[in-house]
Amino acid sequence: MHTQVKPVSMEAIEEAAELIRKGELVGMPTETVYGLGANALDEQAVRKIFEAKGRPGDNPLIVHVSSIDEIAPLVRAIPAAARKLMDAFWPGPMTLILPKSDRIPDCVSAGLDTVGIRLPASEAARALIAAAGRPIAAPSANRSGKPSPTTAQHVFEDMDGRIPLILDGGSCEVGVESSVIDATGERPVILRPGGVTPEMVEAVLGSVSVDEHVMSPLAEGDIVRSPGMKYKHYAPAAKTVIFDGAQEDVIAAICARYDEALAAGERPAILGFDEHDFGERTVISLGSACHAGDAAARLFACLRELDERGETVALCEAVEATGIGLAVMNRMGRAAGFDIVRV
Ligand code: AMP
Ligand code: MG
Repeated sequence: MHTQVKPVSMEAIEEAAELIRKGELVGMPTETVYGLGANALDEQAVRKIFEAKGRPGDNPLIVHVSSIDEIAPLVRAIPAAARKLMDAFWPGPMTLILPKSDRIPDCVSAGLDTVGIRLPASEAARALIAAAGRPIAAPSANRSGKPSPTTAQHVFEDMDGRIPLILDGGSCEVGVESSVIDATGERPVILRPGGVTPEMVEAVLGSVSVDEHVMSPLAEGDIVRSPGMKYKHYAPAAKTVIFDGAQEDVIAAICARYDEALAAGERPAILGFDEHDFGERTVISLGSACHAGDAAARLFACLRELDERGETVALCEAVEATGIGLAVMNRMGRAAGFDIVRV
């Protein structure tokens, strides 16, 4: 199959919508990461997503809508707390887990009786869903086990020959996947951190809980409430280690480890901030230490770059695990198998 990449335009969106209606897959921009979209109500189309990604069938998909009115037929109930979160953060980078209706095929929800729903902020994404006239099931448009794509080029690298069309909407603003919040009860729980932060949820609901697996590796026998968390995601080929502590100590420890690795014949690289001085060592930029969103927006591209350059050791500066920083540390932590050195 020939894969076309087209910049977002009215025409390209109409072409993509027609493909979705015909049961085909489309690579689509959103504000979080690029999605691999299919008609959420068409079981055959949804199966193609799992095939194209190489995604395990027990990992459920998020269903995207273009307005809040489209949700009613997809769910059995909307608890009051969920309603408050929708009013506060939609459209935006937040997925709510709700009890699913029979309209949602089992393969979308991987057999669970709940479904993840999101109203994205990206205008291109909403325009595509509206033009298709159907909710769109879309996981991240990477091959399973690769970092989520934040540019159309990343999608092309992973999906060339597997899908007919990628809509190019430029780089994703947020850069990490949506916050996933279990809102089936009256006390929502953050299962996966993202652009809607625990602090933001707390400001609306008065309190917030965050699932314990967000910042720790899974132990054998642990029960996960968010199936995606049990898969090893985003792991670059490089042995990845995170350094956390006072800024000067982190920089010194990274430089020392880098020099050791180099002497041992490895190919080390640093994931570090622009303001920090690592001398002549190879640095892949996480952006500015002063802008919390930079590391989120760049992290996945940095992980891809590590692999492209054939680096064998990656030494990463930690960010503070508050606000969007929690989402960064969750993804970086998983890339590193939560190998975090406290200095
Ligand atoms: P992705 O679309 O690739 O970012 O992955 C979607 C993730 O959302 C899954 O891996 C799950 O962790 C989570 N998710 C989706 N639907 C549900 C659900 N019904 N219950 C719990 N977690 C879900
Ligand atoms: Mg994904």
